[in-house]
Amino acid sequence: MRWLALWCGFAGGVDGFVDGAGRLSSRAHLLIGRVRSEQDETRHMTSKPVSDRLRELAQELTTLADRIDAGDAPRSAFVHVVAAIAESEEQLLGPRPRAPRGEGAKGRILAHLQENLGRPVPGRELAAVSGIQEWARRVRELRIENGYDIAEIGGGTYRLNAAAPDLQRRDQWRLANEIRKRPGSARGRIEAFLEANVGVVVTREQLDYVSRIAEGSRRVRELRDEFGWPIASHIDEPDLEPGSYRLLSADPADRRDTLQRLYPDDLRGRVFERDGYRCARCGRDRTRALAEGDTRFYLEVHHKVALSDEVAELPVEERNDIENLVTLCHRDHLLETAELQRGKRARRRQTR
Ligand SMILES: [Zn+2]
Repeated sequence: MRWLALWCGFAGGVDGFVDGAGRLSSRAHLLIGRVRSEQDETRHMTSKPVSDRLRELAQELTTLADRIDAGDAPRSAFVHVVAAIAESEEQLLGPRPRAPRGEGAKGRILAHLQENLGRPVPGRELAAVSGIQEWARRVRELRIENGYDIAEIGGGTYRLNAAAPDLQRRDQWRLANEIRKRPGSARGRIEAFLEANVGVVVTREQLDYVSRIAEGSRRVRELRDEFGWPIASHIDEPDLEPGSYRLLSADPADRRDTLQRLYPDDLRGRVFERDGYRCARCGRDRTRALAEGDTRFYLEVHHKVALSDEVAELPVEERNDIENLVTLCHRDHLLETAELQRGKRARRRQTR
């Protein structure tokens, strides 16, 4: 039974320990190196048989690799090396510590992530240290219930970004969990979550979670483009990561220009970047606006030639010509537009 548990724990882990030529990979050497340094005190007494056993195992891995090449590698051959590695670990370091019942696997996952703080950790390592099949659910719990900043960085790999849990983040996830259970539409739940997080960064992952749909971030774009919610993304604020959003104000008076939807995000991004994320009228960027206490500072693209009611009628090439576009803050965009309208009316009167 114990043997089976070891196999479950290490299943899928062995491929990381041997390279294509059957040599122990750098990861395996790293593991062995770590084992050694942790056990310096008792090393002379116990480590020699273990290191010899691992050297033998390296030979066995080579043989296994040859068998793979020959198309003759049964599962039992893998089980054998996996169990031998686990046994070596236990001989050298004793049995893995067990946390209180129910928390064990989660605790081991957390400990392993903390040991590798800031570094990518393949999911199969978490499977190995936890010894359970539902390890991915425990990772989610650590993130959602306990507030650990664990990023899923693609390819089944995880990274813990801070050793201690972030309590604000934990509360944010708890709220997400509460809103997620509410009846009504996906957009309604996203609205509720954003309104509860004004000025705070929320992630695509959280939005998908509260909305109970995979495309939660699409609803966010709708709120922005069709209803004018001032929701900043990495396009407007370079310090936001892609997939992160910030609602600047829940006040209906702060709804912004919905014609902004006519400018594609990548174009808006290029205009803002060219202009240094600074309003061409007041010269402020977000940092300065915040320093002045203006938390509702929001960048918009302004068309220098066409009035806002004409923008929609312009041919796309003309509307999207970056030379015709300039960055303004929302407040100055309103002022600038009003001035242009007045100028236009005055010219009309003159020509009459
Ligand atoms: Zn301005």
